[in-house]
Amino acid sequence: MKIWQILFCILLGALSCAGDSSNDSAASPDVFLITIDTLRADHIHCYGYEKIQTPTLDRLAEEGIRFTNAFTPSPITNTSHVTIMTGLLPGNHGVKDFGVMLNPKHVTLAELLKRLGYQTGAFIGSVILDSRSLSPGLNRGFDFYDNFSSPAVGKSRWGRVERRGFDVVQRAEAWLDAHQSGAPRFVWVHLYDPHDPYEPPAPYAQLYRDHSYDGEIAYADAALGNLIAYLRKRGRYQQSLVVVTGDHGEGLGEHGEQTHGIFLYDSTTRVPLLVKLPEMRMQGRTLAAQVRTTDILPTVLDILGVTNDASLDGRSLKPYIDGTETDGRPLLGETNYPMNFGWAPLRSVREDDTKFIEAPRPEFYDLKTDPHETKSLYEPWNPAVQKMRGELKTLGTLAAGTAANAGTVSKQTSDELRALGYLHQRDDLTSSSVAEPSLLPDPKDKIIEFNLIHSALLDVDSARFAEARVKLKEVLRADPQSSFALGQLADIELKTGKFLESAQDWSHASELQPGNSGILFNYGKALKSAGDDRGAESALIGSLKIDPNQYGARLLLSEVDVHLRDFDDARDQLEAATLIHPTFDANRRLAEVLLDEQRYADALQLLQSLIKQRPNDAHLYDLLATAYSGLKQAKDAETARNRAASLRVGSKNN
Ligand SMILES: [Zn+2]
Repeated sequence: MKIWQILFCILLGALSCAGDSSNDSAASPDVFLITIDTLRADHIHCYGYEKIQTPTLDRLAEEGIRFTNAFTPSPITNTSHVTIMTGLLPGNHGVKDFGVMLNPKHVTLAELLKRLGYQTGAFIGSVILDSRSLSPGLNRGFDFYDNFSSPAVGKSRWGRVERRGFDVVQRAEAWLDAHQSGAPRFVWVHLYDPHDPYEPPAPYAQLYRDHSYDGEIAYADAALGNLIAYLRKRGRYQQSLVVVTGDHGEGLGEHGEQTHGIFLYDSTTRVPLLVKLPEMRMQGRTLAAQVRTTDILPTVLDILGVTNDASLDGRSLKPYIDGTETDGRPLLGETNYPMNFGWAPLRSVREDDTKFIEAPRPEFYDLKTDPHETKSLYEPWNPAVQKMRGELKTLGTLAAGTAANAGTVSKQTSDELRALGYLHQRDDLTSSSVAEPSLLPDPKDKIIEFNLIHSALLDVDSARFAEARVKLKEVLRADPQSSFALGQLADIELKTGKFLESAQDWSHASELQPGNSGILFNYGKALKSAGDDRGAESALIGSLKIDPNQYGARLLLSEVDVHLRDFDDARDQLEAATLIHPTFDANRRLAEVLLDEQRYADALQLLQSLIKQRPNDAHLYDLLATAYSGLKQAKDAETARNRAASLRVGSKNN
């Protein structure tokens, strides 16, 4: 774009011109979006909390604009982040659960900025936002998206499912170093630290000994401080647009909720929102109107002077900054997470002074007199309730879209979720049939159970099995029908070598949910570990009758068959398994079964094709030697044995 064209655009006020060409992008500011996970606004110093030091956020508030009443529509990490990235409510972007692909028809902030010529990078602090597993599609528009290594490596949670804030920031700085010249940069930095378990590193662990959640926030603030200092040093801070927000808050025991995800109270939906404009315009402003995280994307585009025709749920916040709008905007909230436990999902509407929560036992609060939502004034004939109920209709019915939105989460990913304390709808242990939501239990009656399950999952990930067992037994005392508590308990017994106890728990769970193939598979697994091959065979056959397409169950049944010397069925199971999932492992097992059956020529043929796939697998040459010996080809057998030996020496030396 030529200078006269730019002047023309400014004169006309047609700011959309800025987006017409990437040649002028050198003049566009860098954009930094910082999301701090699990960050309650009222636990930040510049939001009035005196027990913490957050110098970085405080200074950003001084140099920018602080929105004192910002809210997220969702208390779930990936759902909330997709809302920030698209400007859409969960019901409209569709990512209401872990592992749901973001539909390409919804354009992300990164895609929009990329089209404007920006260089784009994303740096995440948790595997929950990994675009290859739990947040597919969230990487769209990013030149670089810093996923976790796959498969997850290491035993420590650091690097496997979480990254410390300083680690995330240093990765972002390295990328910025490599992208200093040319087009402006859009960088999203996600700091996961305040998410539980609260384990701040030194010195924050000591400084916040009795408030470790605050310690994590103070640490995240320091990590962000490192990034801001880096930008100042390179002279890139003054000009840049910096937006800082949270994806949701944290219950901290309010309403009985320790963490987040189940309820829609302000404790988990109110987040900070700081916007530092280029050249520190409007610095130090404080705006009290109710705004939403759906408003972030249109605001960024508006500040950059880009028009966007897409129909969004959020609207630019610039009118508040300019002083032309003062009234708050209604917030529609929702959470389906309770459904993972068989409990009712929740919906809410929040206005400046009132809040309605649709639940089996609905709630209505006057926030002026009751800001902590402790005394529900719900009456169905209250006109305010009726009006808010009407607004909720735009979200669709409670049941709609829940089953359709269940994500596809692999076994490994599901394990990563559990390591973070979450359960997934498609887990083996949960109910496959979803009842009419209004008939489901109210999450208010289940919150103690939820806290115990969440805490037990974290215990299991850290191998604190005894503690986890106590918590799960407590859940079962309160709710003997809880098949997921039973399943978790059975899993612990299996992990700790108590195979018979594990089998008993699974058997009990199977009585509670007779049609659940996953429970029967696990029952079979426990029986096999306990040495009961006949029992395992019958459980696995039962499981495969319900769902024949289970690769793992067929593999396991083939092992049981080999023990029982039923080679025909073992082979059938493995052949069926390779049809479901044509993997190397199933084929190698098949070769082993053929050798056990003394079908050496068939085994030889299969092994030769497998060796082509993995020419350096010593074990395949062992099997090959067995096949040649069986065929009385002693010289070939000798060669295969030597090859296996030399491969083993080679791998040791490496
Ligand atoms: Zn989160």
